[in-house]
This record gives sequence, C-alpha cells and structure tokens, in this order.
Amino acid sequence: MPNSDQVNNASAEHNVRPSLAIVVPCYNEQEVLPEAFLALEKVMASMLAANKISTASRLYFVDDGSQDKTWNILQDKAEADTQVVAIKLSRNKGHQNALYAGLCAATEDIVVSIDADLQDGPENIEAMVDEYAKGHDVVYGVRSERKTDTFFKRFTAEGYYHLMRKMGVDLVFNHADFRLMSRKALDAFKEYPEANLFLRGIVREVGFSSSTVEYERQERFAGESKYPLRKMLSFAWEGVSSFSTVPLRAITVMGFVAGLLSLAMIFWVLGVRVFTDSAIPGWASVLLPLLFIGSVQLMCLGILGEYMAKIYAEVKRRPKYHVDKVRGDD
Ligand code: UDP
Ligand code: MG
Repeated sequence: MPNSDQVNNASAEHNVRPSLAIVVPCYNEQEVLPEAFLALEKVMASMLAANKISTASRLYFVDDGSQDKTWNILQDKAEADTQVVAIKLSRNKGHQNALYAGLCAATEDIVVSIDADLQDGPENIEAMVDEYAKGHDVVYGVRSERKTDTFFKRFTAEGYYHLMRKMGVDLVFNHADFRLMSRKALDAFKEYPEANLFLRGIVREVGFSSSTVEYERQERFAGESKYPLRKMLSFAWEGVSSFSTVPLRAITVMGFVAGLLSLAMIFWVLGVRVFTDSAIPGWASVLLPLLFIGSVQLMCLGILGEYMAKIYAEVKRRPKYHVDKVRGDD
C-alpha cells in the first residue's frame, strides 16, 4: 500500500531551492577536518549564492569513536557555527554505520554523503544538486579514473565490481559512498532494517530515477586511509554475503556435478571389479561408499543451503516495493 507520506512527498518533491544536508563520517580525521570545513563551506556558499539550495542547509559530521581530537574539533565547530551539527557515536562502529547514523539524523530535503578526506572533491556536490533539480532522486558520484590508486587497488576494486555483477548484485561501477539522495529515496532507504550494512547495495535496491556525476578521485588530503587491506577484504565479503546467495547455490550445483561424476566412477569401479582381476581386494568396497556418501553429503549441504538462502531473504525483512509516483488519486 502506498503510504500517505510518500504520496505527499511526491507532490512536494524536487523543490526549487531544497535544503541540503551534507553528511561526513569521521574517524581519526583531526588533520583533515579544518580543510574539510573550508571546502564544504565554500561549496555551500557557492550554491547558496546561486540560489540552488535554501539557507536551512546543514553540515552533519559524525565522529565514529575517534581516539584523536576529532570530537573536540567537531564540537567547537558546531558551537561556533549554527550550520554545523556534530554527532558522536558511542564507539567505533565502522564507516557504513557512521554514515547511516548521519543519514538518519538529517532532516533536510536532499542529503549528500561524502568522506572527510576530500578525496571525492566537494565541488562536485554542485553538479549533483543540478542533477536533482532535473528530477533525479539518486545521484551517484562515479570515479572517472583511478590515477591516484595503486595498480593493486585498481585491479582488485574493478575485479570486485565485475564479480559482484556476476553474482547478480547490482552495483554502480566505480561508485563508492559519494552520492546524493532525495528525501523520498532516503525515506525508502531507511525502511531497510538489516544489521549488515552495505549501503551502496541497498541504495541500488531502493531504485527511483537516478543519474551519475563523474569526477576524478584525488589523493587523501592528509592522514592515512582508515581502510587497510584487512578492512577492505572484510567489507568486500560483507557485500557478497549481504546481497548474494550465489555461493550457497554453488554448493547445490557442486553436489549435483559430484553426484554425476561419482555415478560414472561407480560404474567404472564395478566394471573393474567384476570384469577384470586387476582390482586389489577391498578396493571396490572402500571406494564405492566413499564416492556415494561424498556426493550425497554435498547434495544435502546444497539443499540446506537453498533453505538457508530463503531464511536469509526472510530475516532481512526488506520492503517489497516503494512507490515512486501516484497520479489521479486526489
Ligand atoms: N571512517 C569512519 N569509520 C571507520 C573508518 C573510516 O567513519 O571506521 C570514515 C573516514 O573518516 C572517512 C571515510 O570513512 O571519512 C572513508 O575512509 P578512508 O578515506 O580512510 O577510506 P579510503 O578512501 O581509503 O577507502
Ligand atoms: Mg578516503
């Protein structure tokens, strides 16, 4: 059933001068914050001057349990500047959760998420707001090239996007978490109650009219990457395991293939045993049960996997649909 909020939003959507929230997750970012304030304020001021956003726009910084001076800096900033909201999480919860916290706190008409380290170029936010004005509800920031990445990072990252596609997970190529969402898209997004957050996958699930803005990813302004290889691998697996049951289906397929192969082997073993005298005593009686039980076990695991895939889909309690527009119902 289309809920009344969504219908009301549909008529009020895409305001001419929307209020904008920029959400920035920060973990041990004391070196970059002063520069991030300047850059984000600059892009805000330029959009305000061009009448693209309303004066009710805000910057949300989420301190994800930093151990350095991040919170002190954010707190001072929020006290000095009414445009800035600082949120402190109880402990380090990870980039995706910190970003989610910021998105939930924002009340504005449109929300842009961006990293604190200025790698995504805050000046691109203006182009995103322009895309929103054209009628899109989601605007993805897409890296046009990866000049600043090492060969290893580029190779693994691009390979990952291809692998996810093969597993039936819809991801925008070379898009991370730099994106704009309208209030309508954000409200739909918040209906996803899952605990394992892989935001870029959820946003694709939500749907709605979308567009992209291409940009060149810069070097980190200061400090170090908060995503070492270990966290990157675990994040990559999070994406696969939160969005795809292909690995479970693979067990079923493997079980059937092993079953067929072992059937062929069973005939061969019987043939050797019955028609020749090259079989060592005990050979057939050991090999036959081994092949049979092995393939039966794999098939059973596959069947269990199929039911697990169903349970997995059920426990996510994802919304079944979102209404984009309703016409002729006033
Ligand atoms: N971040 C966070 N919590 C974490 C790790 C990272 O809030 O546990 C933030 C970090 O401050 C930054 C963004 O997530 O604003 C992206 O992190 P980073 O730039 O280190 O990742 P990379 O660009 O190297 O992939
Ligand atoms: Mg970064």
